[in-house]
Amino acid sequence: MTNLEFKPLYPDWTGRPIVMAGPCSAESEEQVLETARALASQNIHLFRAGIWKPRTRPNSFEGVGSIGLKWLKKVKEETGLKVTTEVANRNHLSEALKFGVDVIWIGARTTVNPFSVQEIADGLQGVDIPVLIKNPINPDLNLWIGAIERIYKAGIQRIGVVHRGFSHYGNSPFRNEPRWSIPIELMRRFPDLTVICDNSHICGNRHMLGAIAQRAMDLNYHGLMTETHPNPDEAWSDAKQQITPEVFGTLIADLKIRDVSSSDESFLNHLEDLRHQIDLIDDQLLTYLGVRMELARKIGEYKKDNSISILQPSRWNEIVETAVEKGKGKGLSEIFIEKLLTAVHQESISQQNKVMNQ
Ligand code: PEP
Ligand code: MN
Repeated sequence: MTNLEFKPLYPDWTGRPIVMAGPCSAESEEQVLETARALASQNIHLFRAGIWKPRTRPNSFEGVGSIGLKWLKKVKEETGLKVTTEVANRNHLSEALKFGVDVIWIGARTTVNPFSVQEIADGLQGVDIPVLIKNPINPDLNLWIGAIERIYKAGIQRIGVVHRGFSHYGNSPFRNEPRWSIPIELMRRFPDLTVICDNSHICGNRHMLGAIAQRAMDLNYHGLMTETHPNPDEAWSDAKQQITPEVFGTLIADLKIRDVSSSDESFLNHLEDLRHQIDLIDDQLLTYLGVRMELARKIGEYKKDNSISILQPSRWNEIVETAVEKGKGKGLSEIFIEKLLTAVHQESISQQNKVMNQ
């Protein structure tokens, strides 16, 4: 599908950030209402609370179920806040709609499953409600886009995506790796899609929440979804990453919101000048890469004639080591140099492979 036309979630949610907050899970009527009252006084846009919780391991708290929808309804009545909850199947959806939930969200574990997403899409036929779609837990942009398309085909144009990071194995400072390039590519393809950063599930802890929220704002995300709890240490799920509504208020107040664009003439002229220089350099990079690949193909021919294999690890190590050293002096990180050269090297190998096995 191309040319999807998205609408804002609500026409009056214009400024940045759009703020979505509330507990990971609804635990009791008191906890839900206490959190909502504190957040309402901070003028958030949308109150979140999980009712059905997809937990990685059994025997964890799996949500209070439909009774929590009554509490969300009370939140609406008492505070005037709009409310959202996660739905993972058609039954959740019809329950949520029955209780007047304003926005539904599709969780990361559901986005991975086209059957489940389709089931929710089928239930949304003829319903006009904003839908938030979290990224799938695995770093697969097409799977994320597929879920967006399924919901869009059900007639929903008020779609937002929630970037909550991607699973990984092994050590990481993050609970879920952000892999910013994936949402950035999504924004490039769908410029009018509302993009929200769920800093809580990316971080998995409290101390990085502010930095990740700022990063998202600097990448022009429209908003944030952050887990808040009146007593975070006692939360029944995701205790380590939740913060109090007060701490959340400070986090939002401390954000620097930079303009997406400017109409100042001299600023625009200077920016254009710098961008022009960048375009020229990108052009040169491409030219040089083309020349480099031409050389790689020549080497491929030469190796073929002399019956020599493609991969020569010692030569490759030498290239990387030298480049990393040189890069340091030019302000380029080791990770960047390695990624760049790996991509170049892979392309060289595949071009040589073609030459040698034609
Ligand atoms: C949540 O928002 O509490 C949640 C379960 O999120 P995710 O689907 O991103 O894991
Ligand atoms: Mn959570």
